[in-house]
Amino acid sequence: MEDQLLVVNCGSSSLKLAVFDQGRRKLVSVLAERLNTDEASARISGTAETIPLPDNGSYERVLAALVEALKTRGILCRDPVAIGHRVVHGGETFRGAALIDDQVVAAIDHCASLAPLHNPVNLAGIAATRALYPEVPQVAVFDTAFHQTLPPKAFRYALPETYYRDWAVRRYGFHGTSHYFMAQEAARLLARTHDTTSIISAHLGNGCSVAAIRNGRSVDTSMGLTPLEGLVMGTRSGDVDPSLFDYLAGKGLSAAEVHKTLNKQSGLLGLSGESNDMRTLCDLAEQGHSGAALAIDVFCFRLARYLGAMTASLTALDALVFTGGIGENSARVRQQTVEHLSLLGITLDSVANARNGADTEGRINAAESRYPVLVIPTNEERVIAEEALRLARSTQSPSTD
Ligand code: AMP
Repeated sequence: MEDQLLVVNCGSSSLKLAVFDQGRRKLVSVLAERLNTDEASARISGTAETIPLPDNGSYERVLAALVEALKTRGILCRDPVAIGHRVVHGGETFRGAALIDDQVVAAIDHCASLAPLHNPVNLAGIAATRALYPEVPQVAVFDTAFHQTLPPKAFRYALPETYYRDWAVRRYGFHGTSHYFMAQEAARLLARTHDTTSIISAHLGNGCSVAAIRNGRSVDTSMGLTPLEGLVMGTRSGDVDPSLFDYLAGKGLSAAEVHKTLNKQSGLLGLSGESNDMRTLCDLAEQGHSGAALAIDVFCFRLARYLGAMTASLTALDALVFTGGIGENSARVRQQTVEHLSLLGITLDSVANARNGADTEGRINAAESRYPVLVIPTNEERVIAEEALRLARSTQSPSTD
């Protein structure tokens, strides 16, 4: 039986485990959703098979139940050789993945004030697997780490210096693992080396962000102190005038209410009044729904503005890359966005675009386009598995043979 790796992704109401082999192939994943509600459920990917969950289960108990289910089905046959954890916020402390020990746990906890909904649950997952597998090396892979190469002109807000110095107020950026993956894959598809490849990457899922990646290093990105900044997203507004808080306070809304609205009831959902789901909105727009069409228009225009903004950080562009549920699947969104970029000379091949680049190794640009455009299905879990294995191996004493 080949050695295996476990990837753990703990969200605020979900817990996902993925099992990889050392050839970087995902064998299976299990997903528990709607945790801490009466409708909590778990199932194995690609099947209708459900896994019983403990009542009122803590993350520790849910994780133990999922691991047990993998074991009894003969999927996880012995202890994994390493366990990788997705951790949302690494602040300025983590510029790359980290082998987890008590000090790293304390540092992740220290960053929790920057991501109060995420880091504590990420830590709960880490505690659970450390209890279950005390001898197995565990690695934290941070959403923020890839963007730690941003220069100060890109990461500082024009705010009093003390906000940055005393309260760590700066732009961090997120989806770093996905942007890193796009940079690696784009270099491979273009037959170039990663550290000489410059791309603009767009991760468009329920959360959305773009990044400018210069010679393999992130130099600008659209998300900021939190994932709220930047693009229009499923339920997040992206950029708004910060004076909105004060203005709406005058209308009787508290900061907490506005914050919740900007995160949960805005974006595609707020604009369309119907749905946060791009597929649904594309269908509705086809049927003449004006709110859905407006939501798509604002989404694509804001995205195009940000793609243009990313060129300010680059001296060369080897490809524009799309990923995420929308970026990988919506020909309409890609086409509508690129139409705003005609000044950059970017054009799409309508057939390749409609096929999501399936027959063209991801390429969807027209022959006359000034820059290549690629669709690359993201694979953050694979990056986490690779990082876990790399750091776990670095702890092993060198072989003598
Ligand atoms: P993710 O968070 O990466 O899973 O992406 C979720 C988003 O991708 C949702 O808005 C989906 O509606 C969107 N999506 C998935 N498939 C399609 C599709 N074929 N066309 C348009 N949007 C899609």
